[in-house]
Amino acid sequence: MATDGDTLAATYDVMLFDLDGTVYHGPEPIPGVAEVIRGLRDAGTAVRFVTNNASRAPGDVAESLRGMDIDADAAEVSTSAQAAAKVLSERLPRGAKVVIIGAPALENEVAAVGLEPVRAAENAAAVVQGHWAETGWKHLAEGCLAIRAGALWVACNVDATLPTERGLLPGNGSMVAALKAATGAEPVVAGKPEAPLFHTATQSANASKPLAIGDRLDTDIAGAVTAGVDSLLVFTGVSTPADLLAAKTTERPTYLAADLEALDQPADDLVPGPQKGWQVDVGEHTLRASAKGSKDPYELLRALCHEAWQSGLTAVKPQDDVAAAALAALGLTPTA
Ligand SMILES: [Mg+2]
Repeated sequence: MATDGDTLAATYDVMLFDLDGTVYHGPEPIPGVAEVIRGLRDAGTAVRFVTNNASRAPGDVAESLRGMDIDADAAEVSTSAQAAAKVLSERLPRGAKVVIIGAPALENEVAAVGLEPVRAAENAAAVVQGHWAETGWKHLAEGCLAIRAGALWVACNVDATLPTERGLLPGNGSMVAALKAATGAEPVVAGKPEAPLFHTATQSANASKPLAIGDRLDTDIAGAVTAGVDSLLVFTGVSTPADLLAAKTTERPTYLAADLEALDQPADDLVPGPQKGWQVDVGEHTLRASAKGSKDPYELLRALCHEAWQSGLTAVKPQDDVAAAALAALGLTPTA
C-alpha cells in the first residue's frame, strides 16, 4: 500500500500488465496505453507484460506490441510457458524428460531450464500442457500414458476458452479437461489465476513490490490475491462495475480505476472506501447513493464497493440526478 500522496506507479517497482483488455483489444492498442508505458520507463519503473498464452514466444509478443507503438522488449514478456518451466525445474532433477503437449515456444522454455523436452510418454518424469493450435489426439495420448504412469502434470493455464476475432474457441483449459477425464488427475497450474506466473514475472525484473494490473476479476485479480500481490482493476476489458460489486473476497482488487491513466494518480485515491464527494447509505434491500460534490463515477464505485462488500447488497438506488448519471456511466441499473 502507498505512503501519503505517492502516485500509484511510484508506489511499486514493477507493473505486471495483463494484455488483452488491459493493453490492447485484439489488434488495437487501448488509447493512451503507449504514453502510460513510456512514462513508466522514463520514471525507471520496470514493466512486465504477463500472458497466459503459452503458444507465442516472448519475442513474438514483444514484436506485436511494438507494432501497436508500445515499447516492449522480449525480456519484458512473461508467459505461462516460462512459469510452467520454472515449476517443472523446481520439482525435477536436471535433464528429466518432459512430455510437451504444446507449441515450440513451450518446448524452448522447458529446454531453457535444463530439462529434456520429449513427445513420447516412455520414461517421462512430467507432462506440460499449453495452448497450441496443432494439439491433437496423438499428443493427448502420450500425455495420458505418462500421467497414468505417475508423471507430474503441469498446465500452463486453464482458461476454458480462447478469445479470437471469430469468437470463443477451445482454450488450453478445455484440452486439460480432456486429460482430466482420461486420467482422473489434476494438474499443477502455472498461469493466472494461480501464483507462479506473478512470481516469475516479478523475479525476472529483480523487483520486490509488484502491482498486478488487469481487466478480469477471475484471472488477473484472483491470481494477484493468491500470489499476495496488490492489484489494480481497470474497466477497459471483461469485468464490469456490477461484477465488482458482487465480487467474492478472493477476487477484490486493491485499487480500481477506469483505465491505465490512473497510474499517475495518488494511490490512496484509488482504494475502495468511503469518498468525500459521495454518500452511500445501506438500506434494507439496496444501497442508496447521493452526490456530495463529486460527479466522478469511479469515486462513487469505490464508495459503493466499500458498502457492498460489507453488506452483501449490490442493488443501488440513486437519491439525486447526479448519482443517477454516475450509475448510468458505470452501467449499473438503478433500482426503482
Ligand atoms: Mg485481460
